[in-house]
This record gives sequence, structure tokens and C-alpha cells, in this order.
Amino acid sequence: MPQRLANKAALITGAGSGIGLESSLLFAQEGANVLLVDINLAAAQKGAALIQERFPNVKALAVHADVGKEDDIKGAVDLAVAEFGRLDVMFNNAGIMHPADDHALNTEEKIWDLTMQINVKGVWWGCKYAIMAMRKNPVDEERGLRVGGSIINTASFVALMGAATPQLAYTASKGAVLSMTRELAMVHAREGIRLNSLCPGPLKTPLLMDFLNTPEKKERRLVHLPMGRFGEAVELAKAALFLASDDSSYMTGTDFKVDGGLTSCYVTPV
Ligand code: NAD
Repeated sequence: MPQRLANKAALITGAGSGIGLESSLLFAQEGANVLLVDINLAAAQKGAALIQERFPNVKALAVHADVGKEDDIKGAVDLAVAEFGRLDVMFNNAGIMHPADDHALNTEEKIWDLTMQINVKGVWWGCKYAIMAMRKNPVDEERGLRVGGSIINTASFVALMGAATPQLAYTASKGAVLSMTRELAMVHAREGIRLNSLCPGPLKTPLLMDFLNTPEKKERRLVHLPMGRFGEAVELAKAALFLASDDSSYMTGTDFKVDGGLTSCYVTPV
């Protein structure tokens, strides 16, 4: 079976853990060269080494970058293009959920600003530099199209439904990711650059599990999950692979929900 990302180059942020790490492994398995970007360089390097061990036919590199800094993102995109010759897939996946993020009365402005800096500006800059790089990809003569690329932005189910366990800044930031992605998808549709949001449900990754650090906190959520379990990072990686590959060639501007049915649910099964 042909590999779904053969000869493509991908950049993944937040690649040291969770969705980003599983996606890096899966994209490489499907033939992509991958630049693993993370603020935690050691974790990204570990991921890159694992890829080189398992899939020696592709290139995997790790770089330190803070997506909350425009120069870091520009540097990472430039590195991907210098090393791989092009950029086909940009997965703006890094995000934070701050422990001090709460409801409107309790959330400090500095927590709000930090969350927006990373979760919103980071995605904006990731899109900006990816679009600039993808515009330089060669034209597909056969189809008469510029083969732009695929940009995937990680949002969240919390952008689509309210919760009485608030993290106001996080929720607002993910709503911004959805609307920004939709608009960018329209602006760049005729350039062959597709942009889609990935909306995960609650997952068994450090981001959520560090936060739900008691059985009571976990149970408070589990009762609302139709499948009765948290999702796994690899289940999101498989969805990201679909959005990254030409299998989703007629999809752009979508809020792609991978949430175990959570956003369709009124009453869960007993
Ligand atoms: P994770 O904590 O397992 O991994 C996040 C990675 O991002 C870490 O390696 C971390 O070092 C990196 N990172 C954090 N800040 C960064 C920065 N400023 N620059 C670069 N890298 C940075 O988390 P995850 O669960 O895989 O989350 C990935 C994305 O999915 C996030 O955007 C998150 O908001 C979103 N999401 C997660 C859940 C969930 O339940 N885990 C649900 C919905 C959405």
C-alpha cells in the first residue's frame, strides 16, 4: 500500500508529548520527513531518535522553539524548508492549559495573556509562516494546480460546548483557533492551501491528566463521555494524518471533531 505522506515534509509543534508525538511517529511511518518542534527540546529529540530507529528511510529532526514567540516559529519553518526542501504539512498543535486558569472572576490577566500568546498567536504565526513557505511549493502540472499544503490547527471540544468546570482563557483561545482557521481556509482556498481545525475530546495525555489529578476530578468528566473513557493521543494522530494527507483533498475550513461523541451527546448510556 502506498504511504500516505510519501515525499512530504511536515512540521509539528508540541511534538515532544501527546498528540504531537504520536502524530510525528505516524506521519513518519507514512513516509513524511518530520521536524519535531517543542519548548522541551529533550522530549522532541527523543521522538526524533525513535523515528530514526523505526523508520530510517525518512528524516526526523528536533528543534527548540516557543510557539509564543514569532521569531521562534519563523526559524522553525525556515529550518524545515532548508532541511527538507519544502513544507507540505504544518500541524500547529502546541497549546497550554494553565492550572491558574479559572472563571471570569478568578483568572488573572497574566494567565489570560499567556494563554492567548501561546494558543492563539502561536497558531496565527504558525499559519502565517507555513502559508509563506507553501506558496513556494511547485505547481502540479497534471492537475494545473499549485500544490499548496495542509495546515492543521488543534482546537478543542471546549470551543464548541460550555463546561461548569471553567478554564476561561483556554476555552476562549480555542474558540479563536476555530474561527481563525475557518477564515484563513477561505482566504487561501484557491491557492491549494487547506486549513482545518482538529477538535479533540478529553484525552489521556499529560495536559489533561496533570490537571485531573484526583479520582473525583476524573469521574466528574467521565460521566459525560458517551464511550465512558478518555481518548488516546494516537486516536487524534490518525485523524491528523487524514487531514494532512490527500485523502482529505476536498476538506477545508472544517471543525473536525474526534471526541468519542461528546459534542453530540445529551444523555450518556448507563
Ligand atoms: P501534551 O501536554 O501531552 O503535549 C503538549 C506539548 O506541547 C508538550 O510537549 C509541551 O512541551 C509542548 N508545548 C507547550 N507549550 C509550548 C510552547 N509554547 N511552544 C512549543 N511547545 C510547547 O498535550 P496534548 O494533550 O497532546 O495537547 C496537544 C494539543 O491538544 C493542545 O493544543 C491542547 O490544547 C489540545 N487538546 C488537548 C486535549 C486533551 O484532553 N489532552 C483536549 C482538547 C485539545
